[in-house]
Amino acid sequence: MPAAKPRIVIVGGGFGGLFTALDLAAAGSVTLISDEDHFLFTPMLYEYLSGEVEEWHIAPKYRELLDENVKLVRGAAANIDLTQKRVTVEGSGEPIDYDILVLAVGGVTNYAGVPGAEEFAIPFRKIAHANLLRKRMVTALDHVPPNLPPQDTRRALTFAVTGAGASGVELSTKMADLLRDAFERRALTGEPRVLVIEMGEKIVPGMGDAIREIVTQALTESRVEVHTLTRVVRITQNVVTVEHNGAQSEIETAAVVWTGGVRVSPLLDRLAIEKTDRGLILVEPTLQVRGHENIFALGDIAYYEDATPTLAGTGQLALQEAGLAARNIRALIDGEPLETKHFEEMGEAVSLGTERAAVLAGGKAFGGPLARQARFALYTARLPTWHHRLKVGASWFFEGTAPSPLLPLGIQRDT
Ligand SMILES: Cc1cc2nc3c(=O)[nH]c(=O)nc-3n(C[C@H](O)[C@H](O)[C@H](O)COP(=O)(O)OP(=O)(O)OC[C@H]3O[C@@H](n4cnc5c(N)ncnc54)[C@H](O)[C@@H]3O)c2cc1C
Repeated sequence: MPAAKPRIVIVGGGFGGLFTALDLAAAGSVTLISDEDHFLFTPMLYEYLSGEVEEWHIAPKYRELLDENVKLVRGAAANIDLTQKRVTVEGSGEPIDYDILVLAVGGVTNYAGVPGAEEFAIPFRKIAHANLLRKRMVTALDHVPPNLPPQDTRRALTFAVTGAGASGVELSTKMADLLRDAFERRALTGEPRVLVIEMGEKIVPGMGDAIREIVTQALTESRVEVHTLTRVVRITQNVVTVEHNGAQSEIETAAVVWTGGVRVSPLLDRLAIEKTDRGLILVEPTLQVRGHENIFALGDIAYYEDATPTLAGTGQLALQEAGLAARNIRALIDGEPLETKHFEEMGEAVSLGTERAAVLAGGKAFGGPLARQARFALYTARLPTWHHRLKVGASWFFEGTAPSPLLPLGIQRDT
């Protein structure tokens, strides 16, 4: 390592990148490159959709989180030259040279080649996606007059969610509760329809039976229709075509939300480093990229064998990896031995509609309104920086976390 302050460049400011930057701040000359101006606490994007939390709670701007020890470069990293050790950023003049590189660019929505999915389905990974979905629900509601017959109302207010993993069940219960509340406020007849379409045979396949039972009950209470062993064949502007037992059927929808999968950022496609069949970067147990001692990779893009399959692709893994990456970068600079770590499961906390949640902690699962409170408390502790945690904790405590109803367009918070 050069004697002067080594140039540490971190690409991506999510769970992996931001927490590494916060931990490393004074260790060298640290630059964080991000295509967004904010961090996003994704586990609460559902609560943002329902208005239980505000944008500033879960998507704080980097400039509020980082001090002057970290230089922020706003833009998408477009190319990484491993020989010259430099990163080119879209729309920015000079490339950025590094001595140590941290890759933490996360994943993007994987539409699995389903025709029409990328064009017509709404992904659910960013604030903008939640805003779009909420607007779509409000617009659909605004087009339904109170005197419309129940069957027509139901058809006009049908929403489909693809995939019954944690994301699919959290989103569908939230949407169903919000829509039913809107039905009452607007005196509409009948009921909205929210479907979850799942290829596999069971919901939340990555979770244990105890928590699955609570989730199943919540889906029933929120009147979400679950279609397992059903495949999405095609999506158009207003219709989703599904296949079950070899038979295809068409369902008219106001919107389809795609929570069906994640793939690694396309930035990595062009990078000549060792990867798995799924394109994940193969890292040593120290989080160094194989064959490159000065490059670290973590989070959704890295394959860390010890954490697979249970923790792979989770924020809780990326968060823990950030601590190890920062520690090992300091050791590399100081010429000390690098460490490895066994990452712990920090429990599950699943949001279920606007009034309930399910929490798995210490091997015990519990649900209901108390679990919802526990989830808020647990997540306050996982937000970045003490300052932000205190501000958010105080806001939730004093101002409450009631959902914001789907009022007509024009009196919405986001219009
Ligand atoms: C809706 C939702 C809910 C989730 N809920 C949970 C949960 O409850 N518990 C859990 O453990 N996990 C959850 N996850 C998964 C969790 O968010 C990810 O595992 C975690 O964010 C991975 O961290 P990361 O640092 O690898 O990537 P990310 O947090 O995705 O961060 C990557 C960052 O890099 C930026 N970026 C991408 N490409 C570029 C580029 N070319 N140049 C510059 N910047 C770039 C992105 O904008 C982003 O800011 C959820 C995910 C979603 C989408």
